[in-house]
Amino acid sequence: ATTPRVAVVTGTSSGIGEAVVRHFCEQGHQVLAVDFNPAGKEIAEAAGAAFYQADLTDPDACRGAIAEAVKRFGGVDILVNNAGIQHVASIETFPEAKWRQIIDLMLTAPFLLTQAAWPYMREKGWGRVVNIASIHAQVASPGKAAYISAKHGMIGLTKTAALEGGEQGITANAICPAYVKTPLVDNQIADQAKLNHMDEQEVIEKIMLKNAAVKRLIEPSEVAQLVAYLTSDAAGAVTGASWNIDLGWTAH
Ligand code: NAD
Repeated sequence: ATTPRVAVVTGTSSGIGEAVVRHFCEQGHQVLAVDFNPAGKEIAEAAGAAFYQADLTDPDACRGAIAEAVKRFGGVDILVNNAGIQHVASIETFPEAKWRQIIDLMLTAPFLLTQAAWPYMREKGWGRVVNIASIHAQVASPGKAAYISAKHGMIGLTKTAALEGGEQGITANAICPAYVKTPLVDNQIADQAKLNHMDEQEVIEKIMLKNAAVKRLIEPSEVAQLVAYLTSDAAGAVTGASWNIDLGWTAH
């Protein structure tokens, strides 16, 4: 049986975050789902989670999310940093404001959330931080400078948290998925299909899965199950690591 914990999950209105919230609720955890999209309230409550609306590019909103979990549930045991966006442009044309938004949301917010949750984990002598990075935390592709820089930075944050948390019962790990079947990827498939005059299946096979040994997209629930393992009591010796779910992409 899973020990019930208090979990904060970010980016929960769709995709991976939504799957993590559902899985945590099924495990009996008390969950605060955090997203800037108000539609996330209904989704979270249907799963049995509480909802906190916040734009995580705002530092006060990050601290507010942890304060809300403490107010509702008395602490924070598990933090899953998942909220993320993409913007594709060459470095030469990349808008500075987009760069800052992506770094704020995908690197600074995970830092601030970890910082705010830390004292509650330390006091208990038990804590779990899981950062949803990407295979683009290990390798690069052209046109995604801000995303790739934020995700590579997230690995550094994960390793540092693991070292600082080692003697406090706090572990920190990163998960690095290749393409997961979520709205974020559905939009990219549709765009590529138009751009390359292909049907969507061709885009998936010829472009997205070009480097994959397993030729299919990953399901959000497959990522949620790895999150469940990394946040379990069984994973106490697992820390500072990057966990690829990449269809064999980086085996090349
Ligand atoms: P998604 O677009 O389905 O979900 C992202 C969520 O983040 C949404 O609910 C959105 O509302 C929320 N969000 C966006 N900006 C926010 C902000 N400023 N404040 C608060 N919430 C905000 O995407 P997804 O595919 O489920 O991605 C989740 C995470 O997984 C991201 O960090 C992404 O980089 C990572 N990832 C996704 C894939 C993939 O193929 N889908 C692969 C590797 C890594």
